Amino acid sequence: MKLLFFCVPAFFLIYGCTSFSSKHSTPLSDSSIFSRDIHTQSNADSLQIEHLDLDISVNFAEHTIAGVAIWKIKNPNHLKFVRLDTDGLTIDSVRSNGKPVLFSLEKPVAHLGRALTIPIHDGNNEVAITYKTSPNARALQWLTPQQTHDKKFPFLYTQSESIYARSWVPAPDGPGIRFTYAARVKVPNELMALMSAENPQQKNDSGIYHFTMNMPIPAYLMALAVGDIAFKAIDNRTGVYAEPQMLDKAAWELVDMGKMVSSAESLYGSYRWGRYDVLILPPGFPIGGMENPKLTFATPTIIAGDRSLVNLIAHELAHNWSGNLVTNETWNDFWLNEGFTVYFERRISEAMNGKSYADMLWELGYQDLVTEVKALGDTNKDTHLKLNLAGRDPDDGLNDIAYEKGALFLRLIEINVGRKRFDAFLRQYFDSHAFKTINTEAFLQYLNEKLIQGDSELSKKLQIPAWVYGPGIPSNAPRADRERFSIVDAERLKFEKGTDPAALATAQWTTHEWLHFLRNMPKPLTVAQMSNLDQAFHFTQSHNSEIADLWFVMAIAANYTPAFKEMEQFLSQVGRRKFIEPLYTEMMNTGKEPLAKSLYQKYRSNYHPLAQMTLDKIVH
Ligand SMILES: [Zn+2]
Repeated sequence: MKLLFFCVPAFFLIYGCTSFSSKHSTPLSDSSIFSRDIHTQSNADSLQIEHLDLDISVNFAEHTIAGVAIWKIKNPNHLKFVRLDTDGLTIDSVRSNGKPVLFSLEKPVAHLGRALTIPIHDGNNEVAITYKTSPNARALQWLTPQQTHDKKFPFLYTQSESIYARSWVPAPDGPGIRFTYAARVKVPNELMALMSAENPQQKNDSGIYHFTMNMPIPAYLMALAVGDIAFKAIDNRTGVYAEPQMLDKAAWELVDMGKMVSSAESLYGSYRWGRYDVLILPPGFPIGGMENPKLTFATPTIIAGDRSLVNLIAHELAHNWSGNLVTNETWNDFWLNEGFTVYFERRISEAMNGKSYADMLWELGYQDLVTEVKALGDTNKDTHLKLNLAGRDPDDGLNDIAYEKGALFLRLIEINVGRKRFDAFLRQYFDSHAFKTINTEAFLQYLNEKLIQGDSELSKKLQIPAWVYGPGIPSNAPRADRERFSIVDAERLKFEKGTDPAALATAQWTTHEWLHFLRNMPKPLTVAQMSNLDQAFHFTQSHNSEIADLWFVMAIAANYTPAFKEMEQFLSQVGRRKFIEPLYTEMMNTGKEPLAKSLYQKYRSNYHPLAQMTLDKIVH
């Protein structure tokens, strides 16, 4: 995904009134067999849990999903029970091979929810769970019509990564456990449902939609969206879904998606998921994008009107190799997912836009990494690539390190072995691990066997232990060519020395040059400097969410009030945490607490529960 920062302590779960039955004659515990993934209580790795049949209906009045989840299982190890993850689910009944059985919902475990234990025997091949979600389910956001783009119909979408799938489906919810699924979803007649599966392209009158996902995926890639949604094809295998009034804009912005898929394929092998579509969500979506297979979920803040922010789609697309195809075994190995994806994303950008363009992305990423390491502290273990998330909600430890330090590590290897060799290695890595999971240690072993091959000089140059098991940014971190940014720096210095901004040579600049220009300004600027910049470049009116956000942070610091009305407008519409968190933080840090509090009070309900969770700790 891009980017989901939960740099906040985990919160305690809210449990629904879950039914409980524990009238077993024999205890169901068999503690010898548990997954190595500490964030799932499922014993799926000792069973073969192969397929899910889901039959659910979506209730907008109650904010619940209810139905039946049927898991097809095999039991080669003669286990006496199957154990699934749940969080806040009400379990009405369970059948095992068609017959009602007594089940047990175990005690809640902090961050993990309640394990659902179902007795099975050797001949068992399915368990069927009738259940209902809680209105507070962490994966689900229910939007009122007012919170959507078109403001006509309600909307629902899921965000299952990292361990939230269990709040809407009883499932073995670990990234190391894969299964196929089929679903029948009933929604209000005027709405359409989409999933991370084969999708409809038109609404039907019945409100009943059928889905199949024939390739095995982990639970965190289960996804559902329901709303007034329309489809427009880009080419024969890519297309865009959005609310009707957003559709044409979105399709125009993403017109190069087909080329992007081809470009990715020429780097690391064929795209194996059939169609590649993107769903543009309503503005409250708290993250940039989520790589749900076949159907990326994306924030509308990438619809800038000039195709300048579509790099995010390159990121989500790249996940169809790193993450979706080859998956991190546990959340401690998250860098295998995001680090590879950022590296791959930048290679797609380079192929499509040239080296100097990709160099700017690398440099902005490096700046983000420096900021993140500074924020966490350069000896903090959360700055290691291999994480230890024991006892925590995984999202507490998932930060920019996995993305930027992970990508930089791969870039370092590429520079040392040469691009040709590294590309061949990566392609072989994706092919040989397709639809499998891998952990950090297995990857390092594979790297040794296939690429380093005992070359001790190369090993010395790479300093692998420092990158993977050490803190901060290792001394051999590569930096990208900064030629285009050095031109920007020169123009910025002219401005700082009093040159009229209208006289600066900015005509050829892309979003990335503008971001570098603004990021490196002295802070705060004077009101007069802000006003001069605004007159020359109209930042306050920018439709580019990245630039507007940075500008509004500078406006808060400088107390440049002419930008405040548009800033409020921005805060009222945008729910992407990456943007709103810095704005509220800057208000709180610069003596504008009353402004922060009044704006937050007004717009809090527009934000996703995960964004609220972050902001509640900042604005108080
Ligand atoms: Zn990602």
